[in-house]
Amino acid sequence: MREGPAVVVLGAGPAGLGCAWSLARRGIPVEVLEVQDRVGGLAGSFRDGPFTLDFGPHKFFTRIPGVLEEVRALMGEDLLEVPKRSGIWLRGRRFDYPFRMGQLLFRLGPVFGLTALASTMAQRLGSGGRAGHERTYEDYLVRRFGRVLYRMSFEPMAWKVWGDPKTLSAEVARVRVVFPSLWNLLWRMLHPGEGGKTHSARTFFYPRGGFGSIWEAVAREVRRCGGVIHLGVRPERIRLEGGSVRSVAYRSPEGVREIPCAAIVSSIPLSAFLSLLDPGPGPDLLEDVSRLRYRGAILCYLFLDRPSVLDDAWIFFPEREIPFNRIMEQKRFSPHTCPPDGTVLCADIAAAEGDDVWRLPDDAIARRVRDALERMKILDGGGIRRHRVIRIQRVYPVLDVDAPGRLARAWAYLDGVRGAVSVGRHGYFQHNNSDNALDMGFQAADHVLRDLPHAAWRALHDRFDRYQIVD
Ligand SMILES: Cc1cc2nc3c(=O)[nH]c(=O)nc-3n(C[C@H](O)[C@H](O)[C@H](O)COP(=O)(O)OP(=O)(O)OC[C@H]3O[C@@H](n4cnc5c(N)ncnc54)[C@H](O)[C@@H]3O)c2cc1C
Repeated sequence: MREGPAVVVLGAGPAGLGCAWSLARRGIPVEVLEVQDRVGGLAGSFRDGPFTLDFGPHKFFTRIPGVLEEVRALMGEDLLEVPKRSGIWLRGRRFDYPFRMGQLLFRLGPVFGLTALASTMAQRLGSGGRAGHERTYEDYLVRRFGRVLYRMSFEPMAWKVWGDPKTLSAEVARVRVVFPSLWNLLWRMLHPGEGGKTHSARTFFYPRGGFGSIWEAVAREVRRCGGVIHLGVRPERIRLEGGSVRSVAYRSPEGVREIPCAAIVSSIPLSAFLSLLDPGPGPDLLEDVSRLRYRGAILCYLFLDRPSVLDDAWIFFPEREIPFNRIMEQKRFSPHTCPPDGTVLCADIAAAEGDDVWRLPDDAIARRVRDALERMKILDGGGIRRHRVIRIQRVYPVLDVDAPGRLARAWAYLDGVRGAVSVGRHGYFQHNNSDNALDMGFQAADHVLRDLPHAAWRALHDRFDRYQIVD
């Protein structure tokens, strides 16, 4: 390990640990400050009796060159390649997801198919101009898929996850909806082999012992290479001098300690990071950034006395009458996470802290989930032994139409702070996946190591903005 001031990393999720890993293995002193008593952030796992559970369905898949290779080399035989089977529930029936043409036409009927096609063509002809300049989520998707499909699937899903689709930025649709248009979707359905290359995958990767075991392995590597990870600590102040980062003070049960540092990579929420800077931005910017909106998640785990329930690893439920966005069966990701005779279903419900559902007692939430599953005949009522409900406040960054302006002002401010970058789902305010977060961490490590000017970091924003979620 090289002598000299450390790089301090805030947050031990995939982004923060990716950065620390990349630095530590090159001999750079690095200290990670994590407020929780475990690593992995949203992508971590926890134990519940004989079960290892994730925070909702997590698969590892990436198209970013080099990222899978790193994880594979780290995890070795523990990284399983799992055949993907997932569904979407529409109009009372399960469909394969990504869609298959024959199944769609057969189940929804040719009349529906023709109406949907006509609606897309009408939209194309009526709106004129090139696609690509839409401002909102709704504009983007109606333009590409027509109003019929938009109303059936994309609109209710947006309401469930982020809120009013008329106020959401078109960027949300670009990143989250893997197919750029109905025509492209049809093409992929007719040429499923091609789809495997760019938009959807037939298999995904998952570690034998739960998704969080990837990040536990990364943390072990960081420590093996001399890096330090402080768990259960809270950063309190980042001291700047002449526009450069000098030190970070944090509070632990033992008191306050200050770490002199050469650079800081933050993966904590952007507003929290900016408010630690001393001297920091003025109240206007802090207020502006604090208005970046999040939705949280309620995760409802049902523990069942039976070997398994679903044929799918996960099923989406875009329709608003169904009280959750998705269910997943942990065992379908790795059989080693559950005992042979027991299984766990997890339903995720996007909600904000003030919402009525957030305040419901755990029993009432579990009852809602169970009743909906029984109505859909996914569960037959028997075998639920108990439930567990977890609420997480910041899960989905909501990129509404004002957010890009707020973020641009924050990035312009950070351009003037030497040795500080903000990455990850919360630091970059991006609804991303763990492979994206890991890549951002790697890029941040290279950036601070080479002490590059902020213009170089801004150039990397293009890379981050092109990440695509692969289903
Ligand atoms: C329901 C659901 C399903 C998902 N499915 C997938 C999937 O299938 N595949 C996939 O790859 N990804 C998936 N993701 C996304 C994945 O979880 C995230 O992309 C990833 O966790 C982001 O990593 P991160 O390090 O940027 O943020 P996080 O994982 O949120 O880590 C941030 C860390 O910072 C810490 N922190 C926060 N504030 C402070 C503070 N003030 N001081 C110190 N530490 C702090 C947090 O405790 C946390 O550990 C899913 C996410 C959810 C919620």
